[in-house]
Amino acid sequence: MINSSSFFIDLAYFFSATLFIYGLRRMSSPISARTGIWIAAAGMLLAVAASFAHPNVTGNHWLILFAMLIGGVFSFIHAKRVVISEMPQMIALYNGLGGGAAAAIASVELLRAAEHGPSQRILAVAGALIGCIAFSGSLLAFAKLAGWAKFGNWFSRRQTAYVAMMAVVLLLGFILSFSNTAHPVLLLMFFVLALLFGVFMTSPIAQADMPVLISLYNAAAGLAVAFEGFVLGNPAMMVAGTLVCAAGALLTRLMARAVNRRLSEILYSGFGIPHEINETTTQYGHVNEVDAFDAATTMAFAEEVVIVPGYGMAVSQAQHKVQELTQLLEERGVNVQFAIHPVAGRMPGHMNVLLAEAGVAYEKIHDIGEINNEMKKIDVALVIGANDIVNLSARTDEKSPLHGMPILNVDEASSVIVLKRGDGQGYAGLDNPLLQHGKTRVHFGDARESVQEMISAIKSLD
Ligand code: NDP
Repeated sequence: MINSSSFFIDLAYFFSATLFIYGLRRMSSPISARTGIWIAAAGMLLAVAASFAHPNVTGNHWLILFAMLIGGVFSFIHAKRVVISEMPQMIALYNGLGGGAAAAIASVELLRAAEHGPSQRILAVAGALIGCIAFSGSLLAFAKLAGWAKFGNWFSRRQTAYVAMMAVVLLLGFILSFSNTAHPVLLLMFFVLALLFGVFMTSPIAQADMPVLISLYNAAAGLAVAFEGFVLGNPAMMVAGTLVCAAGALLTRLMARAVNRRLSEILYSGFGIPHEINETTTQYGHVNEVDAFDAATTMAFAEEVVIVPGYGMAVSQAQHKVQELTQLLEERGVNVQFAIHPVAGRMPGHMNVLLAEAGVAYEKIHDIGEINNEMKKIDVALVIGANDIVNLSARTDEKSPLHGMPILNVDEASSVIVLKRGDGQGYAGLDNPLLQHGKTRVHFGDARESVQEMISAIKSLD
C-alpha cells in the first residue's frame, strides 16, 4: 500500500519541479520574466514545505525555522535595498551561498559516512568540492566587485601550487568516498583546500571577465545542489540544481561568446596567464562637445537613428525619457532603432528589461549581429551612457583587455552623439578612442536630464 504522506510529498515535489521549469520558461522574455520569478518562487516555497513534512527531516524544526527566518529577512531587506549598479556582486553573493549550502549539506552527510553507500559518498564529495569552489570563488568575486578586494595576482608561479593542491584535494576526496567511517580531520583538510582553491582561481581574473566567471560559479553552485539532492534523495533539489546548472552553463557560454573569449582562456588566466589589468586612469584628449539643442536638431532632421543604451542609461533611469524621445522623432518621420550589446549594463538582458519596461516595441530592438550590418546606413548613432560596448580599442588595440570583444560599430554611422556625465571610464576602466573620433560629439550631463533637454529642444522646433 502506498504511504499517503510520502505520496503527497512526492506530488508536491513534482508540482514544484513543474513550477521551476515553467517559471524559468517565462523568464526568457522581459515581458513575462516578473511572473516567471514569482512562479519559480512559489515552486521553491512548495519544495521547502514538502521537505519539512518529509519523515527524514528530524531534529529541531524550530531551530531550522529560526535559521530560515534570519536568512529570509536578511536577503529580503538586502535585495530591496540593492541598487542596480550593485547587481553583479549581489548575484555573486547569492550564487556563492547556494554553493556553500550544498557544501554544508555534504559535510554533514560525510560525517555520517556509514549511512551512505560509495556512490552517494562520491556525489557528496563531488558536490562538496564544486560547492566550496563556487562559495569561496563567488565571495571573492563579490568582494572584488564591491571594491573590498584588489584584482591581481597574489603570488606568481602558482601553477605548481594549484596542481598540487588539486591533487591533494582529489586524494582526500577519494579516501572520503571509499571509507565507511567518518574522518573529521581529513574532512576539514578537504574543505579548507577546496575553499582555498576557489580563492586562488578567482584572484587573478580580470574585471572584464568577471561576469563570465560569476555565471560559471552560478552553474557550479547548481551542480553542487543537484549532487547533494541525489545524496539526500530530494527530487526538488535535483531538479532545481540541474536547472540552475543548465541555465548557468548556457549563460556562461553566451557571455563568453559575447566578449569573444574562450572559457578556457578566461579560466586559464587564473592558472598562470594573467590578463593585463589596466588600472591607470588616463587623460581624455580633446573631445568635440555638443549642446542638447544641436544634438536634438541633428536627430530631428535625420532619416535613420540608432540608439545605443548602456549602463549609464540604467543608472540615470532614462529609459522612459528615451522612449518619449523616440516617439517624438518618429512623429517627425525619423526611423529609430535600438542596438543592444549582449553585455550592456550590468546583467544579462539589462537593457532589454529597461526598454521593455518603458514600452519600446520589440521589433525596434536589434542585437549586435543585426545592427552592425546596418550601421553604414545610419545617420546618427546616439550612445546613452555606454562605453565598453562601443570602445574602439576592442577593435584596434591588441594590448587592450577588451581586444577581440565584438563592439557596436557606431563609428560606421555618419555621426555619433555620446551622452555621459564627465570623464568616467566604463566597467573595464579603459579610455575609449570613440570620444576623440572625428565623427563624435559629446554632450555632458546625466543621461536622463540630457534626454529631457533634447525632448524640449525637439518640441521647440514645431
Ligand atoms: P560601461 O560601464 O562601460 O560605461 C558606462 C558609461 O556610462 C560610462 O562612460 C559613464 O561615464 C556613463 N554614465 C554613468 N552614469 C551615467 C549617467 N547617470 N548619465 C550618463 N552617463 C552615465 O557600460 P557599458 O554598458 O558600455 O558596458 C557594460 C560593461 O559592464 C561591460 O564591460 C561588461 O562586460 C560589464 N558587465 C556586464 C554585465 C552584464 O551581464 N551585462 C555584468 C557585469 C559587468 P561617466 O561616468 O563619465 O558618466
